[in-house]
Amino acid sequence: MSDSPNERSEVKLTGVPAAPGVAHGCAFVFLQDSLDIPCYAVAPADMPREIKRFEEAMAATRAQIARLRQDVCTRLGENEAAIFDAHLLVLEDPALIEETLKALERSGQNIEHCLHSVTQRYIEFFSKMEDEYLKERVADIRDVSVRLLHNLLGLGRRTLSEITEQRIVVSEDLTPSDTATLEAGHVLALATDGGNRTSHAVIMARSMRVPAVVGLRDATKLIRHGDLVLVDGFEGIVYVNPSDATLAHYGRLRQERRLFEDTVNAELDSPDEMADGVPFRLATNVGGPEDIGAVQKFFGRGVGLFRSESIFLKGGSFPDEKTQYEAYRQVVAELAPAQVIIRTLDIGGDKQMPAAKTSGEENPFMGFRAIRFCLEHRDIFKVQLRAILRASAHGKAAIMFPMIASLGELLQARAILSEVMTELTAEGVPFDAEIRVGVMIEIPSAALMADEIARHCDFFSIGTNDLVQYLLAVDRGNERIAHLYDPCQPVVARLIRDIVAAGKRRGIPVGVCGEMAGDPLYAPLLIGLGVDSLSMTPACLPELRFLLRHSKSSEIAELAEAVLAEGDPRAIEARLRRFTTERLGPLVQK
Ligand code: PEP
Ligand code: MG
Repeated sequence: MSDSPNERSEVKLTGVPAAPGVAHGCAFVFLQDSLDIPCYAVAPADMPREIKRFEEAMAATRAQIARLRQDVCTRLGENEAAIFDAHLLVLEDPALIEETLKALERSGQNIEHCLHSVTQRYIEFFSKMEDEYLKERVADIRDVSVRLLHNLLGLGRRTLSEITEQRIVVSEDLTPSDTATLEAGHVLALATDGGNRTSHAVIMARSMRVPAVVGLRDATKLIRHGDLVLVDGFEGIVYVNPSDATLAHYGRLRQERRLFEDTVNAELDSPDEMADGVPFRLATNVGGPEDIGAVQKFFGRGVGLFRSESIFLKGGSFPDEKTQYEAYRQVVAELAPAQVIIRTLDIGGDKQMPAAKTSGEENPFMGFRAIRFCLEHRDIFKVQLRAILRASAHGKAAIMFPMIASLGELLQARAILSEVMTELTAEGVPFDAEIRVGVMIEIPSAALMADEIARHCDFFSIGTNDLVQYLLAVDRGNERIAHLYDPCQPVVARLIRDIVAAGKRRGIPVGVCGEMAGDPLYAPLLIGLGVDSLSMTPACLPELRFLLRHSKSSEIAELAEAVLAEGDPRAIEARLRRFTTERLGPLVQK
């Protein structure tokens, strides 16, 4: 297409609203591997020029990898930077260079084509290996060859960490590791073909206060690099080349939103009490020490979910006890005396970590995840428990086990915890011997066995992101069925009611730490169902606090009662929306 962006007319794409906000700017289309590799004959006289191009691309690639290594080392540490040493080894591999040059000589075709054929052969060969370590080299080879090809084709490699100006990132999908490399100030918004509201990359976007629309299906085909794009994270709409009328409409909306935020922020440090004086408890979801500032800024009262895997996902390898201890200690000490609930490692699903070798499963969300992984890898689990326990000496920490499906799993996890406590005591290492131990209720079997499980733990935290997906059998990351991922299904409220009742019978508190907790549409319902605390991305706190402060406990109880009596999900949604918009106005995410 030869038309320039502003000559093209407006195109409206509809997806799933994933993180609130509106942003407008130039698109950065992030396509990992899809490259059109040209193939043409090279005259013998031009061979030296072809070889020179290859050498120059090698040098440019080497310099880029070295820069990336340096950058990651400064931002995340030596461990995380080590992945780029492996990339340098691939780049300098004599066999790969020799074979590419031989292919050039033999075929007489351009160097990009030769390089691509050789690397594809390598990738196929290593993919078939039994040895897991060698199999994993495929990702390194692919990464380096794409970088080299970009340099040969004069395209420059697009990685999210290399975005240096404010851009709207458009991609097929984003992994949590992609999102971890985003520079908060440079990304105006995210628009992805795949994903769902509870994808982990989206949860991270929300905590970075970056508007996001997911499940757009073909945004990467319809949006071109540099196109002007407007992302409406409230409604789940993306406009390509927005018209003047659209821009004017959103200009007005933005002003309204700013006024609304001023109103909400005016109550930032007000007491967590409903309009009739009944208290509520709001905690925060964090990924590491980098979130402490946000917790303090938005007056979060402690941490209801510390996703410890964030520390693991930043690097390619398992962090040692010292690295983990430092991260946990910092959060626990800086937020003391408030409680910090540290969830043990929850990898797998959409949080893949190459070193854990959990990838390649047919059904990752139902696969080798979280506590299942930890119970099989006791060594890794014990290192983490030691680090958490040591951190507990510096404030008020609690431990929480994810993805518990049965009482047996909880008992096994607790036995390993006791073992670690005994070892630390023998070594004379201080820790909080009274540390509270909680269970995430996010698998229907655990919800149904809540009474029994509650006898063996100190608190429950309902993980609605997973609970909804398993209860409704709807993969939380699959955009094709995103419309079926519906927390308004009556079964969701009824099951939460039952979990709360089990907690109350056994005298333990029940919180919610899934995305429903920070969503103004669902938070009043959860409080009305008797949930003791809501834990959310710090950035969601001001709006939620405002909403609950402007609600009466009697109104919230009535709302829950009405929802429990309703069988039609759309009627439930309409009721919840009415409750929230009456208090917050119309600027609520769909
Ligand atoms: C959940 O499942 O609701 C939850 C909080 O855990 P995660 O989103 O990390 O799976
Ligand atoms: Mg979960």
